[in-house]
Amino acid sequence: MEATQKAGFKAGLAAAAEAVVAAKDVLTKADQAIGDGDHGLGMARGFRAFAEALAKQEGGDAAASLQAGGRALMMSSGGASGAIFGTFFQAAGKALPPGDLPEPAALAAAFATGLQAVRDRGKAKAGDKTMIDAAEPAIAALAAGPQDLALALTGMARAARSGMDATRDMVATTGKARALGERSLGHPDPGAMTFTLWCEALAARMG
Ligand code: ADP
Ligand code: MG
Repeated sequence: MEATQKAGFKAGLAAAAEAVVAAKDVLTKADQAIGDGDHGLGMARGFRAFAEALAKQEGGDAAASLQAGGRALMMSSGGASGAIFGTFFQAAGKALPPGDLPEPAALAAAFATGLQAVRDRGKAKAGDKTMIDAAEPAIAALAAGPQDLALALTGMARAARSGMDATRDMVATTGKARALGERSLGHPDPGAMTFTLWCEALAARMG
């Protein structure tokens, strides 16, 4: 079967970063509902820096893109999410073998390493109403998906969105939303929303 992907992975990462920047107000509203309202600003700043790091990068090695982007995000975005997403991308980049266009299975393995680094750092687990609840099913879908990268990323994005939707029914047990307890019910987790929008934009640009 001919590959369906229409753009390089680096171009996909750039589009995904820009999509999160563009979603700043939506993410702000999501965090105002169950947190302190800074998520949109922090993620817009972080993913702006991610995109700028990609623009400065020579060549298109995917592992280098994820590491440079993750480092820039981590340094520029405050809040829990800056550390969480920065850790995710940096650890994923370190785990990914060199090459401009990753195989879906290798990318899934690298993202799984990134997610484990997030768990080690933040001590949250599935069901705690965090970005993990979108990332975990998304990465599982990528791992079990087709060999074609664009199609596999589309499946990943779909799984991220259903994971994010499921966070509406979860009570936050970590981060700022924990103080709300049952009142966090009905609202999606802001970090899960960021992860989902990122996946959807990556899949859309690549396919
Ligand atoms: P802060 O909580 O410092 O205000 P943000 O509002 O930028 O940070 O980000 C909140 C998001 O970060 C949450 O919606 C959640 O998805 C994610 N998050 C917070 N703590 C953790 C954690 N320990 N593990 C994974 N994700 C987390
Ligand atoms: Mg916040």
